[in-house]
This record gives sequence, structure tokens and C-alpha cells, in this order.
Amino acid sequence: MPYEHILVAVDLTEECDPVIKRAMKLAEPTGAKVSLVHIVEPMAMAFGGDVPMDLSQLQQQQFDQAKERMDRLFNKYPDINRGDSHLTYGQPRQEIHQLAKDQNCDLIVVGSHGRHGLALLLGSTANDVLHGAPCDVLAVRLMKTS
Ligand code: AMP
Repeated sequence: MPYEHILVAVDLTEECDPVIKRAMKLAEPTGAKVSLVHIVEPMAMAFGGDVPMDLSQLQQQQFDQAKERMDRLFNKYPDINRGDSHLTYGQPRQEIHQLAKDQNCDLIVVGSHGRHGLALLLGSTANDVLHGAPCDVLAVRLMKTS
């Protein structure tokens, strides 16, 4: 069965271009829907949850910047399904899985750095998304290691 709704997880760096392009190529022959998702991780979460200052303004700036970058991607790739795309706060794995379920996506596409050494110990979003995914997952190999 061809894929009908492809969810592309984007980190909004320049590296998301090859990931989106791969998804668009896959969708082309069958006219599958392609949607984007980006998750803004709450700053308090990144700092371990116990921060003695108000991060709300910084957090808002981070969200606004992400929105601007998402808009640039929608302009660059007009075939992307804007209505089903999402920008939200949370933990990437959890939010991507939930969205894939809610939107009946049959494929999630993520970028993968093919880490090694110390970076491998830190884990990767691609690996995280693969575990417990509600549908198929395609990891697009990215050249740069980080
Ligand atoms: P990373 O393992 O964090 O280097 O990211 C690898 C891939 O995971 C990226 O190419 C994206 O497909 C996805 N990804 C990473 N961070 C996010 C995020 N905050 N929101 C959505 N997808 C993400």
C-alpha cells in the first residue's frame, strides 16, 4: 500500500531540507499528504525543571523564531500540507508519536546523523522516535555528524 500521509519531523536547521525533499519525492507518485512537525522543548525541561528565574519571555522568543522558520519552509515547499502541520511545546518523541496517531499518518520521516563515539551516548531524536512509533519510520541519513 502506498503511503497516504507522511509526517516530517523538522529541527528547523538547514539540515531539514534533505529530509523534506526525501519525503516530497516519496509522496510525489501517489499524491500522499506531507505535513511538518516541530517541537519546541520547554526551557525549564532542558534545565532540569528547577530554574530560579522567569523563562517565559525567552521561551516565547524561541517559539516565535520557530514559527518564522516554519513559515519560511511553507513558502519554500508550497506542496506541504500547512493545515495538518504543527508547531508545539513538548518532548519530541512523545509529541511526534501523538500527532502521527491523531492525524493517521502512515510514515514518519526524520533525519539521522549516524553518530558514533561520544555523540552516540547522547542519543538521537531519530532513535527515540523509532521506539514505540505508531507507524513506519524513515531515517534519512544526514552527512554532517554533530
Ligand atoms: P537530532 O538527533 O536531534 O540531531 O535530530 C535528528 C532529527 O530528528 C532531525 O533531522 C529531525 O528530523 C528530528 N528532530 C530533532 N529535533 C526535533 C524537534 N525539536 N522537532 C521535530 N523534529 C526534530
